[in-house]
Amino acid sequence: MGKYDVIVVGGGVTGLAVTHDLALRGLKTLLCERGDLLSGTSGKFHGLLHSGARYAVNDPESAYECAVENKIIKEIASHCVEDTGGYFVLMDEEEYYDEFKKGCKENSIPTKDVDVDEALREEPGLNPNVKAIVEVQDAVLYAYKFAVSLGLAAKTNGAEIRTYNEVIGLLKEGRRVVGVKVFDKINKSVYEEDAKMTVVAAGPWSEKITRMAGIQDLRMVLTAGTMAVVPYRLSKRVINKMRPPSDGDILVPYGSVSIVGTTAYVIEDPDDYKIPPEDAEFLMEEGSALFPAIKRLGFSRMYSSVRPLVSLGEEMDARKISRRYEIYDHEELHGIEGLVTAVGGKLTTCRAMAEAMADVVCKKLGVKKGCKTKETKLPNPIEALNLERVKIKGLPENLIRRMLDRRGTIDEELLSDAFYIFIASSLW
Ligand SMILES: Cc1cc2nc3c(=O)[nH]c(=O)nc-3n(C[C@H](O)[C@H](O)[C@H](O)COP(=O)(O)OP(=O)(O)OC[C@H]3O[C@@H](n4cnc5c(N)ncnc54)[C@H](O)[C@@H]3O)c2cc1C
Repeated sequence: MGKYDVIVVGGGVTGLAVTHDLALRGLKTLLCERGDLLSGTSGKFHGLLHSGARYAVNDPESAYECAVENKIIKEIASHCVEDTGGYFVLMDEEEYYDEFKKGCKENSIPTKDVDVDEALREEPGLNPNVKAIVEVQDAVLYAYKFAVSLGLAAKTNGAEIRTYNEVIGLLKEGRRVVGVKVFDKINKSVYEEDAKMTVVAAGPWSEKITRMAGIQDLRMVLTAGTMAVVPYRLSKRVINKMRPPSDGDILVPYGSVSIVGTTAYVIEDPDDYKIPPEDAEFLMEEGSALFPAIKRLGFSRMYSSVRPLVSLGEEMDARKISRRYEIYDHEELHGIEGLVTAVGGKLTTCRAMAEAMADVVCKKLGVKKGCKTKETKLPNPIEALNLERVKIKGLPENLIRRMLDRRGTIDEELLSDAFYIFIASSLW
């Protein structure tokens, strides 16, 4: 039974990382994504490869996971990471300093106290009224590069990736899910594919998918967050406020801009929510407390996305819900075979979450191969681009030549997104 071993629903970082892991273990895997890769939360995140320090006091399990994965991602996907480092700056909650340092130590998160004058020379735009500064190993992760690299690795190992293919139903035989019903948005057709296992990696939409199998309660809570873009790069490093996790506590330098964020509020439907109008003023106040120039520079735009978090039932304060992940085996939980769902986590921990998911899938399928993603470097898609491949796919050669000719020019960064979109479209 099953043309595919596994069908993965969702082309955010979780779905892509699972597809990469399964393909590397030799399983025939198909990924279906209803939009472009990363059209969900992963493409609208804050840009931070967490050091773990943000969660060191309140959420130690996530803190430790982030610290471990931070090192691995820097190693296997260095072309997607800008290793900026990060500062935690103490402004008013002085009693938090000792707790913060203790939490970092207990979770193996490296920290270094930095002289305030020295730090202000390094980051001259920072509010000078800071009381202490601790350096951590935060970094910036360029998500689209990361996604295309994961997709390319998976594809090289035999996986199929179909974008603009929306899963509209789950095929069932009794209490077993045996495949998916898909709407191909480009060709305007509906088709079915069968598989031994179906993996739901649809982020905040996961509950909508599992409902197709008759599962009503996924034990998941959705919290939306808003981010605001300052159209200038204000710092070399990621700058965090040293205080318990709260709204408006971070600025991430992302390419040539800075992202101020974020907020957190519980929502019901990821397809139907709005950015609260007060978020702009709130993020302006919080952001300019870190970098006073933000008041003068203003925001060029705002965007938001939805965290697909694990619900433990009792905690509904959006900031206090843990960022750890769970793999839900629906055979154990609901008596429905052939279906597993990944919930929670961070973009930083997507590799670990994928490993845990692939372990469950392999156990169920009796596959003995172990995970190799920790030590497998991801390919750099720009290096993989060549005119022969582009010609085969029938993409306009003159456009590719123009892009390649801009390598090394002052416009190269501006064109890098277009590069990646082109490379992705030539691959799937
Ligand atoms: C405001 C905010 C800021 C964040 N910042 C950070 C950060 O700085 N660092 C960090 O590590 N983490 C961050 N996170 C967390 C991180 O972004 C998420 O944990 C992660 O991106 C979730 O990825 P995912 O693949 O599980 O979900 P998604 O990226 O949402 O992917 C799910 C995919 O499923 C697709 N899909 C939905 N329905 C269907 C269907 N029927 N058929 C086919 N496909 C379907 C969607 O289109 C989507 O692409 C942030 C989250 C938020 C909300």
